[in-house]
Order: sequence, then C-alpha cells, then structure tokens
Amino acid sequence: MTTPNPIGVHALVWVGDTAPDSVDHAIAQTKAAGFDLLELSLHDSTNLDVAAARAALETARLQVACSRGLAFDADVSSSDSAVVERGEKLLHESLAVTHGLGGTHLTGALYSALGKYSAPLTAQGRRNVVMVLRGLAQEARGRGMTLGLEICNRYETNVVNTARDALALADDIGEDNVTIHLDTYHMNIEEDDFVRPVHEVGERLGYVHVGENHRGYLGSGHLDFTSFFRALHDIGYLGPITFESFSSAVVMAGLSNDLAVWRNLWDDGADLARHAHAFITAQLGAHR
Ligand code: MN
Repeated sequence: MTTPNPIGVHALVWVGDTAPDSVDHAIAQTKAAGFDLLELSLHDSTNLDVAAARAALETARLQVACSRGLAFDADVSSSDSAVVERGEKLLHESLAVTHGLGGTHLTGALYSALGKYSAPLTAQGRRNVVMVLRGLAQEARGRGMTLGLEICNRYETNVVNTARDALALADDIGEDNVTIHLDTYHMNIEEDDFVRPVHEVGERLGYVHVGENHRGYLGSGHLDFTSFFRALHDIGYLGPITFESFSSAVVMAGLSNDLAVWRNLWDDGADLARHAHAFITAQLGAHR
C-alpha cells in the first residue's frame, strides 16, 4: 500500500559510521527494504563524502533527512559564550551538510547536548538557544530548509521534554520553518499519552520518529502505536515517519554512548527494517 507519508529508517539500523562504503551499504539496504527516506546522523560526519552520498541517494531515488544532538563542550543551551559558539558552529556546519546531501530537513536535539544534565536549564541558556536557533532558521529558510525540534526525555536533555515545551520554544524562536519532531520512545517517558501531544502540535508537526519503549522491534514492547497513528491521521500529518532503533550490534561511538545503547536488542538489521516498514505501512493503512 502506498501512503503519502515518506517512510524512513535511521542509518544506525545498518551502519555505525558515515564513511563512503558505509553510506553506500545503508542506501542499498534502505532501498531494498522498501523505504523512501534515509536519516543520517551527523555525529560522525567528518568521513562523509557529501557529493558522493548525494549522487548515490539520487540514483536510488531516496530522500534524506539529517539529525544530530550537540555535545557538552559545544552546547547552545550553555550560559558560557565560548561553549555556545562551538555549538552554533556545529549547527551551521550540519545545515550545510544536510543541504549538500539534497536534504531539506535538519532535526534532532539541535538545542542541547544529548545526555543527562545535572541541573535545570538556566534562563541565560534558554535565551542562547532561542538566539542561535533563530539565526539557524533564518539561514535555513534561505536554502528552502526546515529545522526540527526533537522532543527528548529528561535523561537526554533539559531543554524540551514535552510537546508543550517544544511549542513554547518554537514560539520564542519565532520562525515558521522551525517545526516540532515527536518521537514515541521519548513520549512514552514524558507525555500523558500518545494522542494529546499530537493534537497539541497539530500542523506544526514536521517529523516523526517511531521507536519502541526499548528501541527494539516495533510491536514487541508496550507502546500504543494504534492510538499514535490514529492521532497522526486525525491531524492530517503527511510528513516523514522514520523508524529509529538501536542495538549494540551496530555502534556509532559518540551517538550510541550518548543514547545509552548498552545491550543487544537485535542482530539482523535487514530483518528488523523489513518488519518495521511493514508495521508502519499497516498502521498507516488502518486509519481512514
Ligand atoms: Mn528520535
């Protein structure tokens, strides 16, 4: 069944880095499993051959989206201006890489490091987030691009943990190409249910991650995907829906550690991905 939502898969299902051979493998596998979009994490983009990856994506007729979080020494939510500047530089570099790949969507924890903070966000830190992301959004608009604020759980950021937090931040940034990115794994920890946040975000929803409560096979955990997909249908969401799953079978040194990927939830990424594509397609087809 075809759906208007591009169905994506995170590259960590396939490979742990973005070196040329790894990107080629991820593209081939993503296509073979029937997906429309490949999401590349830019945590390790120093080995990425942007022009070659773009050509391979175009040949495979795959869309691309990019994601990242920042780091504690390059963090736009810091109140230390040198740390903020390093974070801002990473974001602008990531926007350029995303554009170079032919992508229009840069998303993730663009507003902080990915990791456990030991104190709440400060007022100065929040002002820094707003200032930097406003400038990034303005640059993105000039390139026809959109930013996503991925809502992450309390152990991975102290900036936005709920849909309401993210909407308030986007309001303060004040640029309409800043969209909200919901992720079922994080929603399970922070939100009241899987419906209300979707309705609260409504037409400002720009990107979706679907992951189980343990980030393994979809349907093997306890998340209420039926309610979530019905809510997406109710708001008329037509944007990307990307499967995100992590296992110690595929490791990207920085990102896997930031996300606390300590155990082996699967070995066979191809089987996992085929299953996820079928699961998402069935959910999208069930609500009408
Ligand atoms: Mn996610």
